[in-house]
Amino acid sequence: MSQVTANLMLVKQRLELAALAAKRDPEDIQLLAVSKTFPSIAVEEAMHAGQTAFGENYVQEGVEKIQQLTKLRPWLEWHFIGPMQSNKTRDVAEHFDWVHSIDRLKIAERLSSQRGEFSDLSPLQVCIQVNVSEEGSKSGLPLEEVESLCDAIAKLPNLILRGLMAIPAPSNDISQQRRAFAAVRECFTGIKVKHSNDLGYDFFDTLSMGMSDDMEAAIVEGSTMVRIGSAIFGKRDRNKV
Ligand SMILES: *Cc1c(COP(=O)(O)O)cnc(C)c1O
Repeated sequence: MSQVTANLMLVKQRLELAALAAKRDPEDIQLLAVSKTFPSIAVEEAMHAGQTAFGENYVQEGVEKIQQLTKLRPWLEWHFIGPMQSNKTRDVAEHFDWVHSIDRLKIAERLSSQRGEFSDLSPLQVCIQVNVSEEGSKSGLPLEEVESLCDAIAKLPNLILRGLMAIPAPSNDISQQRRAFAAVRECFTGIKVKHSNDLGYDFFDTLSMGMSDDMEAAIVEGSTMVRIGSAIFGKRDRNKV
């Protein structure tokens, strides 16, 4: 068995245990394998072990991998999870299935209109990135501004609003991890309840939270998609991260 296959099994076990401890159905939590910095051969290995959804952080690296694996494209789902400059949106609109890292309307508008140019592609599935801990990732929108961006995105034609994503500041303290995730979940639930009958919110069902070091806390707080890199593919080359 390859290392990636063995790691995947361990991560799935962690996911299952965390779900059961939180009295949740493990099936309600998707596993996104974050393959950034790892070559396409690693993605193939994971695919042979049954993994189909992959996350990439850098546009050019992601597009190269998607193109190298073009024969497998029908079986794979590609998620863009990194920061995005507006001159890179076209590549994302053309090649990816999901985007987790939208934090301003201008990017969403560009993605929507560019996605529309590819008539064979279904709409892009998108999450808004929330900034819950200022000392953590610089990207993301403050909680107070999330709802109005959701409303604007819900009206765009070639995007489907799926939910929220967050990367809290790293912490070894599980209660601190949980507080950050809980804040995102409360924001998500508030919006979901308020807009349950509104056009454009039919698929608002995704909380993209939890990485290798905090997936358990994220699952207790309601994550529906964990984004796991190093626990599956191994330590990343520091020069590349
Ligand atoms: C790198 C990355 C991950 C995976 O991180 P690990 O700690 O390796 O699991 C998840 N989400 C985003 C946005 C990332 O950039």
